[in-house]
Amino acid sequence: MLVLGIESSCDETGIALYHSEQGLLGHALHSQIKMHAEYGGVVPELASRDHIRRALPLTEQVLKQSGAKLDDIEAIAYTQGPGLAGALLVGTSIAESLAFALNLPTVGVHHLEGHLLSPLLEENPPPFPFVALLVSGGHTQIMRVGGIGDYELLGDTLDDAAGEAFDKTAKLLDLPYPGGPAISRLAEQGRPGHFKLPRPMINSGDLNFSFSGLKTAVLTLAMQHQPLTEQIKADIANAFQAAAVDVLATKCMNALKQTKLKRLVVSGGVGANKQLRSALNQAAERRGYEVFYPRLEFCTDNGAMIAFAGAMRLKHAQPGNHAFSVRPRWDLSELTAP
Ligand code: ATP
Ligand code: MG
Ligand code: FE
Repeated sequence: MLVLGIESSCDETGIALYHSEQGLLGHALHSQIKMHAEYGGVVPELASRDHIRRALPLTEQVLKQSGAKLDDIEAIAYTQGPGLAGALLVGTSIAESLAFALNLPTVGVHHLEGHLLSPLLEENPPPFPFVALLVSGGHTQIMRVGGIGDYELLGDTLDDAAGEAFDKTAKLLDLPYPGGPAISRLAEQGRPGHFKLPRPMINSGDLNFSFSGLKTAVLTLAMQHQPLTEQIKADIANAFQAAAVDVLATKCMNALKQTKLKRLVVSGGVGANKQLRSALNQAAERRGYEVFYPRLEFCTDNGAMIAFAGAMRLKHAQPGNHAFSVRPRWDLSELTAP
């Protein structure tokens, strides 16, 4: 079954073709990062308009790249939520219109299920069950994943998401949006251990997180060292990243211990962070656990993860009625097995 995937929940238009037997045939992405950078964050209306411009040309590009024709597509998967309502509406309406024209079934995919399953696109995918760390711009969750649609939430952030903390810390340090890659680059110039920042909730005994206090600690530190030199900025970035990574890695190891599972699966934009990957790999190796990641480009938003999650849920694909709605707020725990 050949599935076209369409992602448009935020500031990336992602298109992909996934074949249930042959795997990923092609994918393309347009990131709006440059467009939003001058505003320091995503402007929803601009995002929607840009998705309209990009979606069809990208679809043509992916078809060409895959050596497939429009008529070869057998189902269409699109991100139905959560995300920006206007942005979701663009992808959803394009998906349903195409499906109407081509007489195809559609599946509305949960964006976080897309992220969560993205490591399964790689060679040597992890078998179920496993512990999943979902660390993105909007979420920081630890789950026990028993299978598709079997997601038990074990821990969550009580305030900011990890990616959001990277983005806000970057803003404090006058770094460009999005903050994660910028902090990570700058941190390499920083002196490890020059500053020590708190590790919020590291000993809380549960699997929850809190990142807003860490951001405040960064603010206080920055205020104490005005005017900020490049070296001090790099030292702060280094200390912030070390604290965030330490908390994330510690909680993942606790989750593996608690669930007695041996596999950890990491996804979401912050999962691209080099320090996080190396901390997780080291901690896991010491304890005999295995860690799985998506390739770097599939950590952040993309169409491949949506096409893949859609392919896993084809039983729910709906023929006929092309009425549509989006779900800007949608809890992952509402999903059930296909
Ligand atoms: P959600 O999926 O929760 O709705 P989102 O789609 O905005 O949120 P992603 O696209 O998965 O999130 O990831 C974007 C986030 O990842 C941003 O906060 C960005 O700063 C962060 N990020 C990207 N690369 C890195 C990196 N190398 N290190 C740390 N953070 C990073
Ligand atoms: Mg994005
Ligand atoms: Fe995302």
